[in-house]
Amino acid sequence: VASKETKPEPTIVSTRNLKIGGSHVGVIAGPCSVESEKQILQVAHQVKAAGATGLRGGAFKPRTSPYSFQGMKEEGLKLLALAREETGLAVVTEVMTPHHVEMLSQYADVLQIGARNMQNYHLLQAVGETRLPVLLKRGPSASIEEFLLAAEYILDQGNKQVILCERGVRTFETHTRFTLPLATVPYLHERTHLPVVIDPSHGTGIASLVPPMCAAAIAAGCDGLILEVHPDPSRAMSDGAQSLTPQAFAETMQACRKVAEAV
Ligand code: PEP
Ligand code: MN
Repeated sequence: VASKETKPEPTIVSTRNLKIGGSHVGVIAGPCSVESEKQILQVAHQVKAAGATGLRGGAFKPRTSPYSFQGMKEEGLKLLALAREETGLAVVTEVMTPHHVEMLSQYADVLQIGARNMQNYHLLQAVGETRLPVLLKRGPSASIEEFLLAAEYILDQGNKQVILCERGVRTFETHTRFTLPLATVPYLHERTHLPVVIDPSHGTGIASLVPPMCAAAIAAGCDGLILEVHPDPSRAMSDGAQSLTPQAFAETMQACRKVAEAV
């Protein structure tokens, strides 16, 4: 169902002011985790002013260690909804279990499937049963074939609003957190009508590498970006090292506009 042979024209995912696919490039920005009302409202206004149309923020966090901050849970979702009320930004947030799909659907505009859950087939089917757009992240060790088949699990339930997200894969390399393959963008565009977004924050793990990877992803023809932005990255409760300051995010958006005009 994801194949261009079944549907040659690009799928455009659209919710509120966030449009991704076709000729639309959407930018989703915000903190890794929702941490407080002050934090999420402040950053929501800042990313909106810089041109984002989607707000990311994790309330249920899939942390490598069970002893790390696990997210604000439903309280975090309420804060995301409040930020949407104030800014109009579309809320993108991760759902980790089929049991939470209904609850998350009351708050989210886009359901994110995290990299660790790309092959959690019951979760894919559960979000497939909703009619909310789904942002499906590539598993760090998943082939493109497995990635596309994971998308099929969602599409097969009748939910056609699927966004594919390249967020880097695990290789022998250690200078970056993951290895971010940008050839995924033109390759997937040859294979599928689904939109492709790039996550250079998780893809590199290093804030200084994020702006150039954004520019490169735009040049490669991506349909959107998802970026971690924190009002004070050094104090972030998760993923501070890869989070842009609001100022750096605004500058990155300016640079991306120039690249988009040039290509
Ligand atoms: C995230 O978006 O904060 C996240 C946990 O991403 P990933 O699933 O790609 O690791
Ligand atoms: Mn993160």
